[in-house]
Amino acid sequence: MSFESLGLQAPLVRAAAELGLQVPTPVQAASIPAILHGTDLQGQAQTGSGKTAAFALPLLQRLQQGAQGASRRPAALVLVPTRELAAQAGEVLRSLARHLPRRPRIAVVFGGVSINPQMMGLRGGAEVVVATPGRLLDLVERNALKLDGVTLLVLDEADRLLDLGFADELGRVLALLPPRRQNLFFSAAFPPAVQALASALLRDPLRVDIPPEPGHEPAIAQKAITVDAQRRTQLLRHLVKQEGWQRALVFVATKHTADKVAEKLYRAGIYATAFHGDLSQGARTQVLDEFKAERWELVITTDLAARGIDIAQLPVVVNYDLPRSPVDYVHRIGRTGRAGETGLAVSFVSASSEAHFRLIEKRQGLSLPREQVPGFEPTEPVVVPPATGPGGIKGRRPSKKDKLRAAAAEAAARPGD
Ligand code: AMP
Repeated sequence: MSFESLGLQAPLVRAAAELGLQVPTPVQAASIPAILHGTDLQGQAQTGSGKTAAFALPLLQRLQQGAQGASRRPAALVLVPTRELAAQAGEVLRSLARHLPRRPRIAVVFGGVSINPQMMGLRGGAEVVVATPGRLLDLVERNALKLDGVTLLVLDEADRLLDLGFADELGRVLALLPPRRQNLFFSAAFPPAVQALASALLRDPLRVDIPPEPGHEPAIAQKAITVDAQRRTQLLRHLVKQEGWQRALVFVATKHTADKVAEKLYRAGIYATAFHGDLSQGARTQVLDEFKAERWELVITTDLAARGIDIAQLPVVVNYDLPRSPVDYVHRIGRTGRAGETGLAVSFVSASSEAHFRLIEKRQGLSLPREQVPGFEPTEPVVVPPATGPGGIKGRRPSKKDKLRAAAAEAAARPGD
């Protein structure tokens, strides 16, 4: 199958080929003809499935067909949850548009940086706006743009938009849009709140649900290494040297830990740096660019980087701290093994996190052998609380029943008195 056969015009096909997009991915093959036809879409596809191009290509073609008003008010609006995703989607749109006879102006706006350059940038108008919801509303309030000409709305990573608490802003943006428009709704998952939003927004949508094809799911090898919690930084350093890791993304629980671990490793001669929400936007962009350019061996991050950031050829992901939620485990390891490459996901499991890792394994239908690295064998005894039935999420307070069960187990374990 080719991109032409999906109904795309030559300039777009050519630009796609130049980006290495020769054969449509399943989500592209299923979505592009329907989007070109004007149909609403509800898309559930795995990270790395090619969904950005799946909406960007037909969006650009539809803009070519539509009458472009002299006002240059945005006709297409792409809402995304994070600055990084906004920058990425903007880049893909610009690259794909480069051979079009009428190249649309594409504005990318997001919070965390000064608003003035973005206001200036919008002066000449823009046909496509890629935005995070909060900054978009600020710009509307300052009369930097009007949304009453939007005929095509894309919500990308809608689950994440809601997770990040953008529900209010989203509602306010939607209220500013004209009611007659095409809506494209992408989400990695459809829990009830996300499905409710999709159902409220979409009219007679085509549902595109792309399960990973057998044999085509990312080839991610998963490993669990047991180690004492206080030796994890040393183990990380050892593995980088021993395994010759050129680049790895390391997840920790807090910004403070990210800074601390990065600093320790850097002092130990490893090119490591931290990436988290306390950095300025400029610093964040710089770290990502430098990581892509192989300036850094390790980037230590929080769950900020777990979703949506596409770093091609990222070979290794490390869970230094385990994610709180099993769902985040999937997002984290999905940073590697993208677009057909192979990847390695290593989780450090310490005595105190063993029980939580078992829960993650259970939820993911996994059972990983516990491996040890010579010289880093754990010495702390593993304490796994007695099974507490369903639930047992880390951080949950023990219920009365849990306490009674624990007391009974303790009494049973005591030598007879
Ligand atoms: P996305 O799911 O949009 O984040 O895309 C993930 C990665 O897949 C990006 O690096 C794209 O460049 C790549 N990609 C998208 N579509 C294709 C395609 N048709 N063929 C090969 N790679 C693709």
